[in-house]
Amino acid sequence: FIDIRHAQKSFGTLEVLKDISLQVDRGQIVAIIGPSGSGKSTLLRAINDLDPLTGGEVWLEDKQINKTLPHRQYEKHINEVRQEIGMVFQHFNLFPHLKVRENVTLAPKMLKGLSDDDANALAEEQLTKVGMIERIDYYPSQLSGGQKQRVAIARALAMKPKVMLFDEATSALDPELVEEVNLVMKKLAEEHMTMIIVTHEMSFAESVCDRVLFMDQGVVVEEGPPEVIFRNPKSERTQHFLRNHL
Ligand code: ATP
Ligand code: MG
Repeated sequence: FIDIRHAQKSFGTLEVLKDISLQVDRGQIVAIIGPSGSGKSTLLRAINDLDPLTGGEVWLEDKQINKTLPHRQYEKHINEVRQEIGMVFQHFNLFPHLKVRENVTLAPKMLKGLSDDDANALAEEQLTKVGMIERIDYYPSQLSGGQKQRVAIARALAMKPKVMLFDEATSALDPELVEEVNLVMKKLAEEHMTMIIVTHEMSFAESVCDRVLFMDQGVVVEEGPPEVIFRNPKSERTQHFLRNHL
């Protein structure tokens, strides 16, 4: 479903991703863990070509995402691809001048040409799912961090993506707000949304993910089912990392 083949990324002489391959099946939930600077965000951002790779290929179903195309064609291609990939970052990047409703309806209206009525119905559906329907007429500045993050998830879901990417979606939140966002992600897991989740929360990863990848210094050191990676890791590097993070 998602197929990353020999991903390689350098910033100048710094090699951040070293020949990483990863296949994610439809409906699978993969966690990526690893120390700061190991390349987790770079890998995630490569999936929708926000951080283009210097080598290797990224495929979503039968489409190669990171294609070399003449400028015009590339713009069209990447816009199409990005509609299929929802992304939620650490810092909720809601539009501050727009109310919750408009934050969610904007992309479906602009990119998919939905009518006001259809976009509103969609926004209401997604905001209900994340428990934010009561705040539909609020501005982002009137919301807590956890609420903002739930709106950011609703906004991504409104595009009906095939895949959701989460880059430490809860790590900027106060501890008491983490759970409400995790619950939304768990709900998506139950609905078999395909997800790649970069996280520092090992217990969350263990409870929702089908597979865990441990990255260090630009390579996948170890991967496997959560019960193996968290309970019985083979690699000394994984063991060392988990001793400090569990
Ligand atoms: P964290 O857990 O702290 O978020 P990470 O695993 O997500 O870390 P990345 O953000 O992918 O790590 O960064 C991997 C390496 O790439 C780091 O050494 C970082 O300094 C470097 N890097 C990332 N972006 C750039 C850039 N635009 N230019 C130069 N170096 C970069
Ligand atoms: Mg990161």
